Amino acid sequence: MAAHKEFKVAVTKDNLVFASAHFITFPGHRCEKLHGHNYRTRVVVEGGLDPEAHYVLDFSMLKDLMKRLTDEIDHKVLLPLGSTKIQVREEGETVRVAVAGKPRYVFPREDCALLPVPNTTVEMLAQYLEVEVEENFGQSATYRESLG
Ligand SMILES: [Zn+2]
Repeated sequence: MAAHKEFKVAVTKDNLVFASAHFITFPGHRCEKLHGHNYRTRVVVEGGLDPEAHYVLDFSMLKDLMKRLTDEIDHKVLLPLGSTKIQVREEGETVRVAVAGKPRYVFPREDCALLPVPNTTVEMLAQYLEVEVEENFGQSATYRESLG
């Protein structure tokens, strides 16, 4: 069998960003106030070469995919559905958010992104998007799954 070379390619573009609001919980009873970030994403893909095209993957396809993913959560309030401390309840056109059982926020449903994560930390957002997410300059998390 021929040796299989692995390549690593990265995509980061000015439009692969999302400006979203969130708040996270800490161990114990501490919880942040609602605030926002201009998140920037970077995708790293590792894999073998396509034998015909000699690339790991088509960059334009990857950029389109990332644009769709970031557009879905851009200008939204990011809320965790898997939190044990934050209760998120959809009620028709609104989303009611309670922290430790106490009502805290009511948002229009269309302004929320309800995410299957336990906390909207940059690590969990990276895992959700399967990319690198930078919350503030120099403060980022990476999540990677190997292809194939
Ligand atoms: Zn934050």
